[in-house]
Amino acid sequence: MSERFGHVIDGEERASLDGAEFDTVDPYTQQPWASVALGGAPEADLAVASARRAFDEGPWPRMGFAERGALLHRFADLIMANLDELALADTRDMGKPVADAKGKDVPRTAQNIRFFADHARLSAAETYPTDTGHHAYSRYEPAGVVAAIAPWNFPMMLESWKFAPALAWGNTVVLKPAEDSPVSATLMARLALEAGIPPGVFNVLHGYGPDSAGSALTEDPRVDRITFTGESNTGRAITAAAARNLTPVSLELGGKGANLVFADADLGTAVDWSIKAIFTNAGQVCLAGSRLYVQRPVLDEFLARFVAAAEALVVGDPKEAGTQIGPLSSKTHHTKVTSYLDDPSGKVLTGGRGDGLFVRPTVVVDAAPDSPIQCEEIFGPIVTVTPFDTEDEAVAAANGSRYGLNAMVFTENLSRAHRVSARLRAGTVWTNCFFVRDLRAPFGGFGDSGWGREGGTFSREFFTEPKAVVMAIDGG
Ligand code: NAD
Repeated sequence: MSERFGHVIDGEERASLDGAEFDTVDPYTQQPWASVALGGAPEADLAVASARRAFDEGPWPRMGFAERGALLHRFADLIMANLDELALADTRDMGKPVADAKGKDVPRTAQNIRFFADHARLSAAETYPTDTGHHAYSRYEPAGVVAAIAPWNFPMMLESWKFAPALAWGNTVVLKPAEDSPVSATLMARLALEAGIPPGVFNVLHGYGPDSAGSALTEDPRVDRITFTGESNTGRAITAAAARNLTPVSLELGGKGANLVFADADLGTAVDWSIKAIFTNAGQVCLAGSRLYVQRPVLDEFLARFVAAAEALVVGDPKEAGTQIGPLSSKTHHTKVTSYLDDPSGKVLTGGRGDGLFVRPTVVVDAAPDSPIQCEEIFGPIVTVTPFDTEDEAVAAANGSRYGLNAMVFTENLSRAHRVSARLRAGTVWTNCFFVRDLRAPFGGFGDSGWGREGGTFSREFFTEPKAVVMAIDGG
């Protein structure tokens, strides 16, 4: 193990004050592959101070959108120029297939940075015509210091949904990546500096969550916004901490996506997307279609095709180009996911534990409606399949979850597609597709899946302080 990765604070890559480090472990080899600085409250203090100074005194919030946008585009260029190194970092940290990291995570990170830079530059603000001899208009001013706390499942990509709009609107950022996927954040911060983004604008702080670097960020009164993606219970803890300073929080939390396949669906389309919906990233996706509901007349045919497709997925070394399913991200996570297989409630048609930290694509039928496997977020490659008869029954089943992040509908009936989409309690409904993200559209969840929305103007609302300016014309 040779590589070392530090915090990036005030434009410098540095160790923790006491020199503490932690190992990041490759879940395929189960061996440490790099050492990372282990921060706590003292390093969080330094990172927030750096971001605060860069916001209060530095050029970044005072630059025009065009100048900031040019630097962000240069940053995106450098991310693409370093695609292989960045992709491999996420693969080694958390086991995602390198083909996915190269084909999706890294390019989408660059695309997110470009989109939010352009969106901020091209956004209009409002004017409000009055009958009273006044001119009223809105301004969107940067909120200040943003703490961005991220999970490990799509490390760079999810981080960029936070830091890209925050930076584009003129904020400064302290990013705390997940302790299971720290390396790509340091690599990105190095590239941000190389792109010419001023020191202190984009800081990276490594460490754990509770009673550590993460919680220190959420308790700091110098932080103006907290944007968090992760588990629902962590969201509760962060919100409680933020409440003491009345710091606004945006939360993208867990999910238990319902996937409804009607008898009038194109079954080939439904099988293809349903496979991607649950087995992409070994099921470690907040949006995973982990509850499949299939209308009874097509149940047998669907299941036969679905199980065959699940068994055909290539499970193996995530560093091999052809691998579709890698290991789970860590030993701890593997223990959690496989606990659902100890008592699956229903019958396991295919899948189960694999070698090492692998879980094979697993399909379970006849699980009880109130069983843990059916109700809880597993965050692994395990799907339950349940038959239904009527549209009302399908909608009620889909909505019978405390989560409400997303749902999928497969039908060739246009009226049904619109009707069911309207009735589903979910932040995103995909019909005859999955995982298509338009960055202008709202993204977020109902219920335990979160607070607020990300995307386009929704990100602007969160990362700015909208201001009203009212002027009297000729004395008003
Ligand atoms: P997690 O909640 O355990 O950790 C996420 C981050 O929060 C990590 O950086 C961690 O160090 C930090 N953290 C933990 N406790 C903290 C505390 N008390 N204060 C401050 N920071 C703290 O989540 P995870 O295991 O990394 O990720 C998996 C979860 O993320 C799943 O529930 C998944 O559904 C969710 N997720 C949601 C979305 C979405 O867009 N809604 C996207 C991806 C993942």
